[in-house]
Amino acid sequence: MANTKHSKQRDALIAILQSTDTHPTAEWVYEKMREQFPNVSLATVYRNLKHMIEIGIARELYTDNSSRFDANMSDHYHFVCRKCNRLIDIFPDEELCETKKIKSMGFEIDRYDLSMYGLCKDCSGK
Ligand SMILES: [Zn+2]
Ligand SMILES: [Zn+2]
Repeated sequence: MANTKHSKQRDALIAILQSTDTHPTAEWVYEKMREQFPNVSLATVYRNLKHMIEIGIARELYTDNSSRFDANMSDHYHFVCRKCNRLIDIFPDEELCETKKIKSMGFEIDRYDLSMYGLCKDCSGK
């Protein structure tokens, strides 16, 4: 029975992470999980997040002051706002010139993890 409980929690956690594009912290996922599983521990949440990363259905992103999680594995990069701390998905229209350059050097790219830092348009007042 323990396994059933664990896989239920795991499925719920995957659904939570896949339902948002805000790149939440583990603590945010934990709060959402507690609405469904009042007894869930933060350690369990971390373990399931690590598992999602290991099997390739989530990635961990590092900002200056927190670790954030993203279940969108399509090729995209992130803009990190230093004021409101939002992580915004950027989907390039065409292949990035950086990846073209790297391929031309003979490297094969499996995936990339690129972040740009600054002020988002709400915070820059533009
Ligand atoms: Zn901002
Ligand atoms: Zn993302």
